[in-house]
Amino acid sequence: MSGSAVVIGAGVVGLTTAVCLAESGMDVRVDTDRPSLVTTSAAAGAMWDPYLVEPAGLVERWSTATLAVLTSLSADADTGVRLVEGTHESRVPCGMPAWAAHVDARPCPPGELRPGFVHGWRYRAPLVDMPRYLTYLSRRFERAGGRVRYHRYDGLDEAMREAPVVVNCSGAGARQLAADPTVEAVRGQLVVIENPGLHSFFCDDTPGAEELMYIYPHADVVVLGGTAERGSWELRADESAAEEIIRRCSAVEPSIAGARVLEHRVGLRPVRPEVRLTEERRGGGLLLHNYGHGGAGVTLSWACARDVVDRVRAACGPTA
Ligand SMILES: Cc1cc2nc3c(=O)[nH]c(=O)nc-3n(C[C@H](O)[C@H](O)[C@H](O)COP(=O)(O)OP(=O)(O)OC[C@H]3O[C@@H](n4cnc5c(N)ncnc54)[C@H](O)[C@@H]3O)c2cc1C
Repeated sequence: MSGSAVVIGAGVVGLTTAVCLAESGMDVRVDTDRPSLVTTSAAAGAMWDPYLVEPAGLVERWSTATLAVLTSLSADADTGVRLVEGTHESRVPCGMPAWAAHVDARPCPPGELRPGFVHGWRYRAPLVDMPRYLTYLSRRFERAGGRVRYHRYDGLDEAMREAPVVVNCSGAGARQLAADPTVEAVRGQLVVIENPGLHSFFCDDTPGAEELMYIYPHADVVVLGGTAERGSWELRADESAAEEIIRRCSAVEPSIAGARVLEHRVGLRPVRPEVRLTEERRGGGLLLHNYGHGGAGVTLSWACARDVVDRVRAACGPTA
């Protein structure tokens, strides 16, 4: 496909979309008001996990297609994607989610469960070291001829003057940029510690649990989660929340207690009643939206990006 496009946003959704458009032959520029390593995407844990996101039918297709891409990327250590095994466990009896079938999850026998947990399932899935992965996506985008410009847009009409095709991947920023009041920020805070020797992930999946709790071991660090505060746009880390995360995670994995804290991360999940993947004609050009992925932007990223390419091709033909 030829022609030029501007993608607004350098998070995982924007960069993946930009890679797919550039690799399809378009001349693509990413416009972003902050570097990708300080976006919400850089703060994420990040497991493949279709977590609380709609619309259900599309999410199933998007998440399984993205699972296949992330799995193939895990063959290259430079991507920051690794296949890691671990468990989701619950303090009360509950069923497995529908997506468990896509990762061949199997129920844990009682002897495999952590103290206090009565039900669980074990599986292997992509775990993504986000700073490394975003660096990989940026390099891949540049290799395909893409460019990045630092610029803040106050409205989409201004962006429509930049290229015949514009893709809005502004995450929680879409609330203001696309004047979309259905977008809410759900603030998440994580703690990164030195890896005390953990190899498998753990996630407390107790239905109705008041707090999130997960332990994601990367090669040399472990990401501990987390919080979910609806409507908070605060980007500074909160010390007492960090202490509470460490306390909760140490209670199920005692080796965490003495590990050195390396970093605190905060991100704003772009939550919306459902992901917005739509297109419209505006100012003589084509405007697409690809935002509102909530707590599952990594999990849906490749399939949503490919849908954008298909929509551009359908709307503009081989010459966008
Ligand atoms: C603590 C935490 C843990 C998470 N864990 C997981 C996980 O395990 N698995 C998973 O799949 N997902 C996870 N997520 C969710 C995931 O991080 C998000 O869904 C994803 O990062 C959204 O990506 P995005 O590119 O849409 O948004 P962002 O990463 O926020 O990027 C938005 C981009 O738009 C730019 N922008 C915004 N407004 C403007 C403007 N007006 N002008 C110019 N540029 C603008 C920003 O600068 C930025 O570059 C987690 C999120 C958090 C916070």
